[in-house]
Amino acid sequence: TDIIVDVRNLAVEYGRGHKALRAVDDVSFSVQRGETLAIIGESGSGKSSTAHALAGLVDTAAGSITMNLDGPTCGKGGSSHLIFQNPTLALNTRMSSWACVAEPMAPGRVRIPQSLRPKAVELLRRVGLGAELADRLPTQLSGGQRQRVTIARALASKAPLILCDEPVASLDVSLQEEVLQLLADLREEHDLTYIFISHDLGSVARIADRVAVMYLGRIVEIGPVATVLRTPSHPYTQALLAAAPHIELERRSRRKALVRGELPDPRNPPSGCRFRTRCPIAMDRCASESPSLRLASNSAHTAHTAACHLSSAVTSTGISNLPQ
Ligand code: SF4
Ligand code: MG
Repeated sequence: TDIIVDVRNLAVEYGRGHKALRAVDDVSFSVQRGETLAIIGESGSGKSSTAHALAGLVDTAAGSITMNLDGPTCGKGGSSHLIFQNPTLALNTRMSSWACVAEPMAPGRVRIPQSLRPKAVELLRRVGLGAELADRLPTQLSGGQRQRVTIARALASKAPLILCDEPVASLDVSLQEEVLQLLADLREEHDLTYIFISHDLGSVARIADRVAVMYLGRIVEIGPVATVLRTPSHPYTQALLAAAPHIELERRSRRKALVRGELPDPRNPPSGCRFRTRCPIAMDRCASESPSLRLASNSAHTAHTAACHLSSAVTSTGISNLPQ
């Protein structure tokens, strides 16, 4: 198999001492070349921090990130490129659109050479922006146009791995679909691999191959997107899906329950299973024993695992004790 990034026991920490916040704790996953892995969770789940660690924007407190990139690379940290939720923050507001796009093609240059303009204009056109917008400043563009500039910029970086941190969350619903389609098309055309951070299950169902569900810094469930969204194993994933009735998944019964209760203080997470303070089926054991990821269902090729004491795969005799 062709693994482009392998993350092992990753931890990300902010601050020190008793104020330290471990935003990501013991997270492991790998991503195949050409695949889209979505990471979902509420705010504070550690999903953005995971992407920022992969982009080299934050230090890792523990664990390893191994990039296996033999594709073309270019520019600073050319192996991966981060697309932010807020495109304005990602763009130099004093640079014209074409220069913002060309910048990754001219690493270390203060002035972007005019010779890169045709290539930049071509990339702008590819993401749906006409040449007449090439000289506009980011502030003279709409939010949707700005996000297209950042996508063109990601293409210019030639990074094979694109980290998308809620790339459509700031856009109108009508534009979200267009930008998701653009990202999907570009993935095919340029052999890209995406890690797609989102709290929107609709976007995830639309673009991802696999999904990892994070809660309080840990992955609680990971597997093929259709399997996880149709037959969620972890009580947290089940609650998330029940709380998102707007996504239409085939014949999935709509459960009423929202995720009950408040998110615990991430500086002082619950012992054992971190979800136990909100879990409707918590047992004594959940307070003392931290569940590790175990096979949750027998999907054909790709593992579906969940970190719950009550999750286990359907056995060969067809007996299941999936919590339901
Ligand atoms: Fe609930 Fe226990 Fe499973 Fe955690 S391990 S999700 S508390 S049943
Ligand atoms: Mg975030």
